Amino acid sequence: MTDVTLITGDGIGPEIAEATRRCIDATGADINWDVVEAGVEVMERLGTPLPDETIESIKKTGVALKAPITTPVGKGYRSINVHLRQTLDLYACLRPCKSYEGVRSRYSDIDLVIVRENTEDLYAGIEFQKGKDDTAEIIDWLNKHSSRKISSDSGISIKPISVKATERIVGFAFDYARKMGRKKITSVHKANIMKFSDGLWLEVSREVAKKYPDIEFEDRIVDNMCMQLIQKPELYDVLVLPNLYGDIISDLCAGLVGGLGMAPGGNIGEKIAIFEATHGSAPKYKGQNKVNPTALILSGVLMLRHIGKKAEADKLENAVAAVIAEGKSVTYDMKPDRDDPTAVGTSQMADAIIEKMGSS
Ligand code: NAD
Repeated sequence: MTDVTLITGDGIGPEIAEATRRCIDATGADINWDVVEAGVEVMERLGTPLPDETIESIKKTGVALKAPITTPVGKGYRSINVHLRQTLDLYACLRPCKSYEGVRSRYSDIDLVIVRENTEDLYAGIEFQKGKDDTAEIIDWLNKHSSRKISSDSGISIKPISVKATERIVGFAFDYARKMGRKKITSVHKANIMKFSDGLWLEVSREVAKKYPDIEFEDRIVDNMCMQLIQKPELYDVLVLPNLYGDIISDLCAGLVGGLGMAPGGNIGEKIAIFEATHGSAPKYKGQNKVNPTALILSGVLMLRHIGKKAEADKLENAVAAVIAEGKSVTYDMKPDRDDPTAVGTSQMADAIIEKMGSS
């Protein structure tokens, strides 16, 4: 038996978490679930959106499947999702984007993996608000030491990119490529403009690549990368990106394969990994048994592979693909017409996936 933490989340979280848990159990993967809470609902009860027992469980099991969590507005909390990634040092965000037959999309043959650095860059949270004393001090200092002048009415966000974090994430991308039989890594940057941050990223990427002569390496400037992904996505395999570009390109690639309902993900560190859908808690659909559980189920597939249960992962992925290809027992968003009365609910789509595994 493998211990796995299940964070049920809020909004649509509990419904898709339950659908996913049933699908994973039906693979025979023999998981011992430690079910814990996080999000706005538990905050109303316990006064914190992230109880200590939730963090303790993740630290103990080392692997979690997490349903979406609403970011409380105006209560002084930053995103719980960002908080989890930072406190547990989940430095790699893994987002495979793959076409499945039967999903409405302009593209049919996409098979890309996005590896996004999760800890640095403009998302490090080092920011200075316009008009504050600290900000004025920094602006004064910069204006003394730089030929370019910053206006005193500016706000400032800092973009740190380090050798250590870049080595770690690019190494992760290469190790992942090796493990999964992938052929090529593309490192994405804007080194022509930001020479000391993105330039360093590119230089370190090239150094790390030398240690993996069996895997092809190339780099692309981020704006060109966007165009190439729209025009010739088949040329790319695994992309490794700093935090901000990684965030944007992940959504672009989710769009190539049919949108957020199809986009699984994992946040991975040295000792701990949390798998979750890219989409959020869609509060307006809460409790309606309506939304698509696919992204969280496919995150479960990634989780199964991560804990070494490859056969069970393949079985579940094949069953999801078969149900989507048939197009019968799928949620409203996967039907050609969103008001199609034959659309099924979240739990009925899970039932169809479980039935497929039984008949395979
Ligand atoms: P969202 O992804 O929750 O929903 C946007 C829209 O996408 C929904 O209204 C719905 O139309 C559609 N959608 C999303 N998931 C779907 C699904 N499984 N099936 C069918 N349709 C689906 O984004 P939002 O409304 O911007 O965010 C809601 C909350 O979720 C916010 O508080 C946000 O901070 C949070 N959020 C959490 C995570 C996470 O837990 N990792 C990620 C993103 C957003």
